[in-house]
Amino acid sequence: MPYNRAQFVTSAPDISRLPADTGIEVAFAGRSNAGKSSALNALTDQKLARTSKTPGRTQLINTFSLDEDKRLIDLPGYGFAKVPLEMKKKWQKSLGEYLQKRQSLKGIVVLMDIRHPLKDLDMDLINWAAGSDIPVLALLTKADKLKQGKRKAEVLQVRKALAELNADITVHAFSSLKGLGLKELAWQLDDWFLGP
Ligand code: GDP
Repeated sequence: MPYNRAQFVTSAPDISRLPADTGIEVAFAGRSNAGKSSALNALTDQKLARTSKTPGRTQLINTFSLDEDKRLIDLPGYGFAKVPLEMKKKWQKSLGEYLQKRQSLKGIVVLMDIRHPLKDLDMDLINWAAGSDIPVLALLTKADKLKQGKRKAEVLQVRKALAELNADITVHAFSSLKGLGLKELAWQLDDWFLGP
């Protein structure tokens, strides 16, 4: 798929305001600062991701279209320490609903910093996805920060931890900076959008 043809469609203040639930969409999610915007920009070869990064402010869900019935969804980063508990709960609830109800959601890309993956909120998300039979591609970002040996060990460890969930979960090292894992990301998306 020509991901460089992705076009910004809308920013929705919440999940109920997303485009019509038809066709196929893939969502990108991760703790704030995990490298989600960089990954989306690397994938699409554009400066797409403009989600507000100010903690405590309304965070928008950006939608990018690939063609009439294929979309990338950029979910707000989670895990801001300073966000009020009320907001966190509200976001978690709507994220849970999104995962459970959204018919067009074909897969989720979960981005985690390779130096500290599988935090509680990451696990919540991955568990929700597994429980809803939504496949997950876990990208361990900023892999350029680790030497090869440590990087491989980290990937294996995360694979092993997630294998216990017995769900459709794939794990790759990723670096927007070095282009590492970019092909694997595109292949996985092709698989979700176009079928195997
Ligand atoms: P987001 O909050 O998840 O959208 O994260 P960003 O994409 O804005 O990245 C957060 C920070 O990590 C920025 O300072 C980026 O420059 C840095 N970063 C993102 N991807 C990489 C990467 O592949 N390698 C390195 N070394 N830094 C990265």
